[in-house]
Amino acid sequence: MEKTTKLYALVQGKCPHCRRGNIFTGTLYGFDLQRTNEICSHCGQRYEIEPGYFYAAMYVSYAMNVMEMIAVGIATYIFSGGNLEFDSLWMYVGVIFSGCLVLAPFNYRYSRVILLHWLSPKISYNAYYDRP
Ligand SMILES: [Zn+2]
Repeated sequence: MEKTTKLYALVQGKCPHCRRGNIFTGTLYGFDLQRTNEICSHCGQRYEIEPGYFYAAMYVSYAMNVMEMIAVGIATYIFSGGNLEFDSLWMYVGVIFSGCLVLAPFNYRYSRVILLHWLSPKISYNAYYDRP
């Protein structure tokens, strides 16, 4: 039986326990809003292991946001040919703000994936469940 790799589970938003069930409903940029499932449909792992557990994901997504804003800011600087005039301030604000909007579903999803896969010692991978 082939094991699901951690990278695959991370990218695809799979359950950290069995790496098979989906953590989310819907697709990253689909028309139906993505939601977090309560339990894994494959192994029954509860994702919100304690009430308010996903508040911790806000800190993860905050950190992601900061890094993305810096990255988008630097990219804007490069693509505008190093334009740092005061007049271009709104260009930066606009680009960075729209970048945050575009990346919001991405951050929602991956802040929770990171929380569940890397910051949750209570949930560990169990190869026993990693089969159809
Ligand atoms: Zn599972």
